[in-house]
Amino acid sequence: MTISTVSRAHPVVSQLHSVIRGKVLSAADVSFDGARKVWNGAVDSRPAVIVQCQDQTDVVAALRIAREHGLPLSVRGGGHDWAGRALTEGGLVVDLSPMRGVTVDPHTVTAVAEGGASAGDVVAAARPYGLAPVTGTVKAVGMAGLTLAGGYGPLCGKHGLALDNLLAAEVVLADGRVVTASEDDDADLYWALRGGGGGSGVVSAARYRLHPLAAVLAGLLLFPLDQAPAILGGYREIVADAPDALTVMAGFLGGPDGQPLLFLFPTWSGEAEDGERAIARLKRLGTPALAQVGSMPYQNALSTFDASVVDGRHYALRTRWLSELGERPQALLLDAARRVTSPLSAIAIHHFHGAAARVPSADTAFALREDHLLVEILAAWEPSAANAGGPHREWADAISGELASHSLPGGYPNLLGPDQQARVRLAYGANADRLLELRRRYDPHSAFKSAVGSFEAAAA
Ligand SMILES: Cc1cc2nc3c(=O)[nH]c(=O)nc-3n(C[C@H](O)[C@H](O)[C@H](O)COP(=O)(O)OP(=O)(O)OC[C@H]3O[C@@H](n4cnc5c(N)ncnc54)[C@H](O)[C@@H]3O)c2cc1C
Repeated sequence: MTISTVSRAHPVVSQLHSVIRGKVLSAADVSFDGARKVWNGAVDSRPAVIVQCQDQTDVVAALRIAREHGLPLSVRGGGHDWAGRALTEGGLVVDLSPMRGVTVDPHTVTAVAEGGASAGDVVAAARPYGLAPVTGTVKAVGMAGLTLAGGYGPLCGKHGLALDNLLAAEVVLADGRVVTASEDDDADLYWALRGGGGGSGVVSAARYRLHPLAAVLAGLLLFPLDQAPAILGGYREIVADAPDALTVMAGFLGGPDGQPLLFLFPTWSGEAEDGERAIARLKRLGTPALAQVGSMPYQNALSTFDASVVDGRHYALRTRWLSELGERPQALLLDAARRVTSPLSAIAIHHFHGAAARVPSADTAFALREDHLLVEILAAWEPSAANAGGPHREWADAISGELASHSLPGGYPNLLGPDQQARVRLAYGANADRLLELRRRYDPHSAFKSAVGSFEAAAA
C-alpha cells in the first residue's frame, strides 16, 4: 500500500511521532520538501513520510511501523544514488542522514561509522591519526551506500574496493531484529552485504579497516582533446601494468570555456620517489594544459571533482565495464566527448586492479574480480534547461549503446538504473543465485528497495 499525502493526524504519522526520537516529516511539514531532495535534482519522488532516525532504536521502530501498515520502504544514507532510490513514492523513508557519528580506534586501526556517515566523515575522523579509509572519489557520497555495492576509488589498487575493507556491520533486518554480520557472526549476511547493495537490511553502523596514509601524490592533468588519441593509448599501457600504489582515473570533462578536455586523475599511495616517476610518465603522454599534481592529504584529493558534481543539478548516468581501453572504445569515447551536448556532462573511467583484483570472486557478493575499467557516463544539465535534459540523456544512452558490444556483461550495480535489472543480474555472475537466496532469507517479503534493485525478475 502507498499513501499519497498524509496529514500529521494520519495514524502512521502519529504512531511514528509517539516513538521516534528523531524527526518525522510528512507533506504538512515545512522542512518536508528539503528533506526529500537528493543529490540528483531531477529526482522528484514524494514519499508519504520521512523518518530522520536519531539512532538504531529509531530505525527498528520505523521498520516495525512500516511493516505494520504495509508501507513500502527505502533507506537514505548520503542521498547520492543518481536514480533516487533513497526515496520511495508514497512510502516510508528510513533517513539515516542524522546518524553520521564516527569513532576511530587507532589500536585496531579501524573506524566505526554510523549508517548515514559520508565518506568524508570517515576520512576526517581518521586523519588526525595518520589513517585513512578506502573510499570513492567524492567525499559527500554515503560511506555505507558506497561500500554496500562496491566502492571504486583512488586506493583500489593498494587496498581493494571499499567493501573489501568492511569488517563488520550492525544490521537491522526487515523484521526489526538487530544482528551483527562479520567473518565470525552471520558470515552469509556479511558476504551478501559486500556487494549486495543494501538489499538485506539497514546498516545502522559499520566497522571499516583503516590504513596508515599520511599523504598521497594526486591531482589533475588536463589535456586538449587533440592530444587525446596518444594519451588514451598511453593510458591503456600504463594501467595494464600499474603497480598497486598507482590508481589512475581518466575521462573527459568541460573546461573553463565549456570545451571538453581530457583528464587524468592519478593517485599514488606508495613511496614518494617512485610516485614522482609514475606521475612524470603520465605527464609525458602529452603537453598538459594544466598539471596540478602534488603531495596532499587524502581528503584534499577527494575534493578534485566537487565542482563537477554539484548538488541539485539534473543528472542521468549510464555505465559500462571494459576489460581494457582497446582502440575502438578509445575512439568511441573520444567521439562522444567531441559531440557532448552539455558543458556540465562528463565521462569518468575508474581503474580496477591490484588488491581489488586479487580477491577470489566467490568471497564477496561483488563478483568481477579481474582487472577492468568502469566507464561512468554522466549527463548533467541545469534545472532551468529548456529541453528537460532530453538531448543530454540521449547523448549518454548513445555512448552506452555504442560501447555495449565492447563491454563485459553487466556493469557496476551501484550505477545501473532500475530498468537495467538484467544487467544487474549479469554483474553478479556466478554469485547471483546465492545473493538472491540470501536476500530471500533475510528479507523474505522484499521490504527493502536496494540501490541495486531486485533483479530476481530478470532471472529468467
Ligand atoms: C558524485 C558521485 C560520486 C560517486 N563516486 C563514486 C566512486 O568514486 N566510486 C563508487 O564506487 N561509486 C561512486 N558513486 C556511486 C555511489 O557509490 C552510489 O550512488 C551509492 O549508492 C551512494 O550511496 P549514498 O548513501 O550516498 O546514496 P543514497 O541515495 O542515500 O542510498 C542509495 C541506496 O544505498 C543503500 N544504502 C545507503 N546507505 C545504507 C545503509 N546505511 N544501510 C543499508 N542500505 C543503505 C540503500 O539501498 C539506498 O537506497 C558516486 C555517486 C555520485 C553521485
